[in-house]
Amino acid sequence: MKDCVFCKIISGEIPSYKIYEDDFCLAFLDISNDVYGHTLVIPKKHYETMITCDNTTLSRVIETCKKIGDFYVKEKGIDGYNILNNTGSVAGQSVKHIHFHVIPRKEGDEVKLFNELPDCGADLNAVCEELKLPKENVVSCACDDAVVIYTDGACSGNPGAGGWASILNFKGKEKILSGGEENTTNNRMELMAVIQGLESVKDSQIIKVYSDSAYVVNAFNQNWLSNWQKNNWKTSGKSEVLNKDLWQRLLKVVQKHNVEFIKVKGHSDNENNNRCDALAREEIIKLQD
Ligand code: 5GP
Ligand code: ZN
Repeated sequence: MKDCVFCKIISGEIPSYKIYEDDFCLAFLDISNDVYGHTLVIPKKHYETMITCDNTTLSRVIETCKKIGDFYVKEKGIDGYNILNNTGSVAGQSVKHIHFHVIPRKEGDEVKLFNELPDCGADLNAVCEELKLPKENVVSCACDDAVVIYTDGACSGNPGAGGWASILNFKGKEKILSGGEENTTNNRMELMAVIQGLESVKDSQIIKVYSDSAYVVNAFNQNWLSNWQKNNWKTSGKSEVLNKDLWQRLLKVVQKHNVEFIKVKGHSDNENNNRCDALAREEIIKLQD
């Protein structure tokens, strides 16, 4: 757009300190030079605000924000980052070309991005009733494109001979994996079932993992794993995290995909979970023969 300052930055008419560029997005330093590394991420196509921007473009811009923020954290010694967007003048948007601010944060930097606002006094119940989106806005996820993995591990004695099994479903096709190990534990077998299932998926995919192991599922869904990593693989009770080798192997493969962990009730009505259980037990019997 002719009079847009950010379009002029894209075309090179106005100079900028470029941080990153691809076919869709540009990231450059904010001229305000307020917070060290304050970066703006914009789509190359002109959209005035978030409201008019299409979802594909928006996704690319957000992905670029993450790419840049993660790079600052992993490679440049930054401790975290804020991603901010102002939509509309009333929200403080001064440049009318959609942009996201990536604001690097350091421990103790005392940057205050939000005023500490007092309680506005609204009844949250009433606000929720007023503002919640009608049901027709709910879009189910792209489940048809997801790989579904059922897993189970079993052990005869704990420790003892163990078995694991994974059943994978992808676009109507099923793949079954199983194995066994002498002198292992139930938790290790639960982990191994998930690891083997995930490692057998070649390309990066959306994956749903169904497990009856609270140990495995909660490690992801209740942030145990991120805490263990932060605490150098020590539990909150300061002891060594068990099965670190397997957790690290699992983390590596999880990072390759987009994985959701779902807890199922074991030995119940989930047919594939029951099939995994039977397969894992067969593996134990093979070891004992
Ligand atoms: P907004 O207030 O619209 O969310 O943010 C607009 C941002 O764009 C401001 O932080 C402002 O400093 C930045 N900005 C405005 N003009 C220019 C410019 O010509 N070059 C760069 N690099 N940043 C700009
Ligand atoms: Zn523009």
